[in-house]
Amino acid sequence: MEISFAGRRALVTGAGKGIGRDTVKALKAGGADVVAVSRTLEDLESLARECPGVKTVCVDLGDWSATEAALSSVGDIDLLVNNAGVALLQPFLEITQEMFDRSFDVNVRAAIVVSQIVARRMIERGVSGAIVNVSSQASQSALQNHAVYCATKGALDMLTKVMALELGPKKIRVNCVNPTVVMTAMGRANWTDPQEVATMLNRIPLGRFAEVEDVVHSILFLLSDQSAMITGTCLPVDGGYLVG
Ligand code: NAP
Repeated sequence: MEISFAGRRALVTGAGKGIGRDTVKALKAGGADVVAVSRTLEDLESLARECPGVKTVCVDLGDWSATEAALSSVGDIDLLVNNAGVALLQPFLEITQEMFDRSFDVNVRAAIVVSQIVARRMIERGVSGAIVNVSSQASQSALQNHAVYCATKGALDMLTKVMALELGPKKIRVNCVNPTVVMTAMGRANWTDPQEVATMLNRIPLGRFAEVEDVVHSILFLLSDQSAMITGTCLPVDGGYLVG
């Protein structure tokens, strides 16, 4: 299935590395005009060199007012991917306020503020739009040391459903993708123990972790008109992990 995004303008958060970076490239290849938002300037500079024409915005999305200021003049957006996220792991009994706040600020609150900015403008213009939030299988399945991360992704799933409910009548679809482990910088940092890797792989019926492109393909589907009647869904990209 060839999907064209010609004539559409997309914004991707967490675009410097991993899933976000490859989503930017895929949207650009599909003909979209793309705005890439991330935190580390060097990542954005190298992305702009690789993908000429991509507009970049450097901001810490955990900072609500800085995000509003940075995106105030971003212009019209038709497609939004709320992908920026952090996976800060602590055993439940050692969770700190700082780690809790940072996790919710980036994984949940940033999706709210960016979506507000983008959706308000979509509604003013009277256009239809699509938003995809990048959640995780961890929203629905408990993992050791992941209490706060799991809670942020559970919150993101429910946020997605309420956004779908409120924004549907305004012609804006909102869905999320829920990947299993992907060996990006985040995946590599958190899956270092061969025993834990083997245990996780054993619980995935398809017997492998997700590749970045598995996630990107699902994001593109949910952004595209191929999914025109789908909103409020959480799509596992997990090789069947959540059936167990
Ligand atoms: P990644 O390789 O660590 O990339 C994340 C990107 O988001 C980086 O460019 C990072 O920039 C950016 N980012 C993080 N915090 C930010 C902030 N406060 N402001 C602006 N940008 C920020 O991670 P990934 O694996 O691609 O993860 C992308 C999404 O997929 C996340 O929401 C994650 O929870 C989800 N996910 C990942 C996995 C996995 O196993 N990898 C599985 C399920 C779901 P800096 O590096 O400059 O901070």
